[in-house]
Amino acid sequence: MIGGGTQVFALVGRPVEHSLSPALYNPLFEQLGIDAVYVAFDVAPERGGELAGAIRTLGLAGVNLTVPHKAAILDDLDATSDQVDLARAANVVVRDGERLVGHNTDGEGFCRAWEARFDTPLAGVRVVILGAGGAARAVAASLAGRGAAALTMLNRTVSRAEAFLSRLGAGHDGIDLRAGALDRGAFARHAASADLVVNATSGGAAPTIAGWSIDALPAHATWADLNYWMDDPPLLEACRERGLRTWQGLDMLIGQAALAFELFTGRVVDPARMRGGLDDAS
Ligand code: NAP
Repeated sequence: MIGGGTQVFALVGRPVEHSLSPALYNPLFEQLGIDAVYVAFDVAPERGGELAGAIRTLGLAGVNLTVPHKAAILDDLDATSDQVDLARAANVVVRDGERLVGHNTDGEGFCRAWEARFDTPLAGVRVVILGAGGAARAVAASLAGRGAAALTMLNRTVSRAEAFLSRLGAGHDGIDLRAGALDRGAFARHAASADLVVNATSGGAAPTIAGWSIDALPAHATWADLNYWMDDPPLLEACRERGLRTWQGLDMLIGQAALAFELFTGRVVDPARMRGGLDDAS
C-alpha cells in the first residue's frame, strides 16, 4: 500500500514512457517489504537546471537520470563519486537529508553484466567506442579500470572525445588512447585491431553507423550496442550474420539498475532477480 511515508524514487529523462525501470524496481520493493515506489518523470531538456531543487523540495529519495539529464545536474550536487568526476555524468542521485550525492553505475553495470555473460576477460581488451556522451564516457572509464589495452573513441564532436580521453589518460598509464571522427574511414582504420566495439551513441547516429562496412573486424570481435530499446540497432544484425558475437544493452540496463538499487536501499540484489520483474511485466 502506498501511504504518507512511502519513499518515492524516480527515473527522470525524456522520453521515458517506454522505460523498463519501474518494472525493474517496483517488484523488488514489494518482494523485499520496502515501503517505496518507483515512477518515471518526463522532463524537458531545458528544465534540467531545476532538477536538484525539485528533488529536495519534493523529498524524492533518489532518482535515476537518463538522456538528456546526466550532466546538467552536476553543479547542483553536494558530492559526486570518482566515476562521476571522470565521466562528467551522473545516472544516480541519492538524497541524504538536504544533501544530494551523484553516482554513476553505467560503466560498472556494463562491466559486471559482461563478466556475468561472457568468459572473455576485459583486461587487455582493445575497444572501439562509438560516442563520447555520458554512457560512452562511463563505459570507457570502467573498461580502462578493468585494464583495457587500447581505447579508441569515435565521436561526431571529436573535441568531446579528446577532452575525455585526456582526463582518462591522466589516471591510466599504459593504455593506448585515441580519438577520431564518427565516420566510415575512421572506423575502417581502427576496426581491424578491435576486440570489442561498443555503440554508445544515441538513436540519431544510427543512419551514419548503418552505412559502414564491418569486413575489417576480426572474427573474434564482439559488437555491443547499449541501445536496448532499439528494434534494429545499426550493424548488429550484420555482425550476427557474419558470425561475430553481438550483445544488446538489456544486461547492462539491469546491471546498472542493480547497483543503483543498492545505492538507494543499501540492499544488494542479484541482477537475475531484477530481470524477473521484466519477465512478469511482459
Ligand atoms: P548522450 O550523453 O546524449 O550522448 C549521445 C551520443 O550520441 C554523443 O556521443 C553524440 O555525439 C551522439 N549522437 C547523438 N546524435 C547523433 C547524430 N545525429 N549523429 C552522430 N552522433 C550523434 O547520451 P548517453 O547518456 O551517452 O546515451 C547514449 C545511448 O546509450 C542512449 O540511446 C541510451 O538509451 C543508451 N544507454 C543505455 C544504457 C543501458 O543501460 N543499456 C545506459 C545508458 C545509456 P556528440 O557528442 O557529437 O553530440
